[in-house]
Amino acid sequence: MNNTNTSNYISKVLINWYNSNKRELPWRDINDPYRIWISEIILQQTRVNQGISYYLRFIERFPTVSILANSDEDEVLKNWQGLGYYSRARNIHKAANQVISNFGGLMPFNYKDVLTLAGIGDYTAAAICSFAYNQPYAVVDGNVFRVISRLFGIKTPIDTTIGKKQFADLAHELLSKDNPGLHNQAIMEFGALQCVPVSPDCSKCPLQNICFAFSSNMIAELPIKSKKIQINTRFFNYLNIEYLNNTYLKKRTAKDIWQNLYEYVLIESDHLLTETELLTNEKFQSIFKGVLTVEIINFSKPIKHILTHRVIHAQCITIRISNEIKNINNEFEKVDFQNVDKYAVSRLMELFLGMKK
Ligand code: SF4
Repeated sequence: MNNTNTSNYISKVLINWYNSNKRELPWRDINDPYRIWISEIILQQTRVNQGISYYLRFIERFPTVSILANSDEDEVLKNWQGLGYYSRARNIHKAANQVISNFGGLMPFNYKDVLTLAGIGDYTAAAICSFAYNQPYAVVDGNVFRVISRLFGIKTPIDTTIGKKQFADLAHELLSKDNPGLHNQAIMEFGALQCVPVSPDCSKCPLQNICFAFSSNMIAELPIKSKKIQINTRFFNYLNIEYLNNTYLKKRTAKDIWQNLYEYVLIESDHLLTETELLTNEKFQSIFKGVLTVEIINFSKPIKHILTHRVIHAQCITIRISNEIKNINNEFEKVDFQNVDKYAVSRLMELFLGMKK
């Protein structure tokens, strides 16, 4: 077979396989670019099963791009709570406003225009343009890297510039020019269900006859990555400061994890602090300056919270105070315990709030 014949053959097999094996999902077989966009962003870092309920809730609350654009970012974050990678939600909100101001409220049709929206890169633009408009842009996600690398025996690391280009070119060559949307969905689903990362069941694979990894016993080795992810370890001491029926929350405004989410007053350190270390900590002393009685009620058990590039060791210390903290610059928000649920918080904070109930 020449290259075109091979590509046509693979694409046909993938589409046939897809038609009989695809999962029924709420964003399947739709051509609404707004819904496709939201589902793709949710699925970037979230498993399908977990993503379904978030997607349905999100679309119910923000059924159109203009309703999303006109909502508060805090509310968007609240609806994203628990999904993690909150920059996705901030970008969705920002992009919805771009759609209103730059494209008259209609999702753009042109691939280059789609790429101008916040948080949308090559992958998402290709997904939107091919699924919604059947335009010939190949999607290249982790599933596609794996399938292509194994089928053709590509050993170039997928996390290098040269590797990305090589895989993108091959994905484009494979793409069905008659049915790019269906082809893209088929290859992604094939990677998600059939050519899975660990121990795929190759005996059931319709492409086994032409698969390089299968014939050369290299399934476990492919695809290849060059870099190891650097893991950064951090230590968070959260202070749940109780004053009458209130606690204090702070919005994380820095460009860091969980930007614009709320949390208890935080003292970050290079290890989890003991009671003695806490009492002599400079930040602790400045927060409680002028407070007559500061009573430490409880130290929670430490929690190890794992994110993709970080491990966070955290504890929550409950503190009761006799009079209000000074709260210079209104850095902290005094919040009635009953209203804490209304604030968008990280999964870690959710755990500490759950302990409180
Ligand atoms: S034969 Fe195995 S490794 Fe090759 S494409 Fe099929 S499932 Fe993947």
